[in-house]
Amino acid sequence: MELTFLGTGGAWGLPEIACGCRICKKMRELGEKRNRTALLLRGEKTVLIDCGPDIRDQIARNAIERPDAVFITHEHGDHFIGMDDLFAFKRNVPRDTFTPIPVYLTEKSWEIIRLRFGYLEQMGVITPRLIDTGRWFEAGGLEAMAFKTDHGKTAAGSVGFLFRFEVSRGATKRIVYTSDFVDIPQIPEEAVSPDILVIQSFWLNEPVENRPSHMSLQRALRFIELFSPKMTYITHIGDADMVAGDPWNTCLKKYQPKDPLGTPSGDLPYPIPCCQTDWEKTLERVLSDRRLTFKAAVAFDDLKVRI
Ligand SMILES: [Zn+2]
Ligand SMILES: [Zn+2]
Repeated sequence: MELTFLGTGGAWGLPEIACGCRICKKMRELGEKRNRTALLLRGEKTVLIDCGPDIRDQIARNAIERPDAVFITHEHGDHFIGMDDLFAFKRNVPRDTFTPIPVYLTEKSWEIIRLRFGYLEQMGVITPRLIDTGRWFEAGGLEAMAFKTDHGKTAAGSVGFLFRFEVSRGATKRIVYTSDFVDIPQIPEEAVSPDILVIQSFWLNEPVENRPSHMSLQRALRFIELFSPKMTYITHIGDADMVAGDPWNTCLKKYQPKDPLGTPSGDLPYPIPCCQTDWEKTLERVLSDRRLTFKAAVAFDDLKVRI
């Protein structure tokens, strides 16, 4: 099984348009980019997790064949608004040979997504498959289970996914994909100690007010400990931390940190990471300063991981 991080950026991608903050500026200088977050799982079958506005390019760049299953984590645009591009898989096979792509999502998410993309069902491009949380189902050659995640009032259908698949006779591996969230009411037992956990760090520091209901790296540490994975990948990275001395700190999107991460003595807050190397160094410092022994890495666009 191979995982490809198709995108690792927050809702508006990085560097963000109309933004000259230090984070976006540094990324532009380095030629770094983070597309909207999506993940591809490729084993005998192909599974796509989320389908945001960058999906056309993400599919083209990675020569992705027709997915056997699409999983949608929630009804925010950066996670589903690219679904019309799935049409290409129907348009480019001989007439009458296409079967609709099953799209797995909660009823609450479909209620919203249907208003925009109901025609994809009517035109036989997709078949929505409504899922309940806490129950195993089979999709795209995997066993999957959704679990409820709290991502605020505007994403009532928000879920994370646990995937289980056989690697050799009798031996299975598990991946937990958490998407956007601020809390998880109940972590399913089966999701503890997975091989891989994918978790977002929209900010480095937990903001004074967690208004868009996202995860900061600071907050994520507790969840990584609760899941106890063998390996963690950080994704869905944003640019909403305030960088010291940045005149763009007055922008609406920038958040004041509550109790910023820093040296354990508390006298030195870590500089806000701007680029991939900064994020990698900061993550390493956060873990070693706190003597946290779990393994974690910062994902970047098109990173491939074999499991
Ligand atoms: Zn998002
Ligand atoms: Zn969201």
